[in-house]
Amino acid sequence: MRKLAIVANWKMNMTQESGAALVEDILDALPDGHNNVDIIICPPFVALDRVRRTMEGSRVSLGAQNVHAEPEGAFTGEVSAPMLQGLVDFVIVGHSERRTLFGESDDFIGAKVVAAVKSGLTPILCVGESLEDRQAGRAVEVVNSQLLTCLAGLDDVSTLLVAYEPVWAIGTGEAATPHIAQDMMASIRDTLRSRFGEAADAVRCLYGGSVSPDNVSDFVSQPDIDGALVGGASLSADSFASIVASASEAAG
Ligand code: PEP
Repeated sequence: MRKLAIVANWKMNMTQESGAALVEDILDALPDGHNNVDIIICPPFVALDRVRRTMEGSRVSLGAQNVHAEPEGAFTGEVSAPMLQGLVDFVIVGHSERRTLFGESDDFIGAKVVAAVKSGLTPILCVGESLEDRQAGRAVEVVNSQLLTCLAGLDDVSTLLVAYEPVWAIGTGEAATPHIAQDMMASIRDTLRSRFGEAADAVRCLYGGSVSPDNVSDFVSQPDIDGALVGGASLSADSFASIVASASEAAG
């Protein structure tokens, strides 16, 4: 039985001050109970320490939004996995904004996955096809290829989280249908099973792309969807807390 995970990706929003205030509001708004859901918040790097101190002792975990593949060196502006060790437990890698705006390849993302695991961080690996790929009937092929290349350096995936985020659904208000998402998740799990065996059944597969309090229960009710990666709606404490509550109730 896989535990649900709801992940907040704040992207390039929130300062130290406003991030601490938002996490306080989220902690206040979170319903009591609902312990069948893991909650992971991913603020920008500069707000990590402040947010971590603000939420100390709570049930919420912390993640970073990115990491570099090398442990140290001449990579101005970058942050390495050893630097994140002790600060966060999770790290998002391969978000489509990193792929499209910053030119990250699957090979580079794969090196980040390995670096994260080496430092004891759990990667939240994002995969997803563009609208063009979907319209051309290549969605499954593209996602499977991303998955296999990005995970090529791992032997064990049992603690991994994979977020399927169709690029056309991110920040558009046009979420995938639960049917499309479930079909892709089943394909992702099959691919993981053929490469990693039974460990695939432990991998948590999250849906991301315009998740809201109104649609999250339809996603997490699907057999292969184990939670959500939430962008825009995670910037409102009430929306994010409602997403956690609805997911928890849908999971029973
Ligand atoms: C995301 O940033 O990963 C995301 C899914 O954003 P949104 O929820 O705003 O579509």
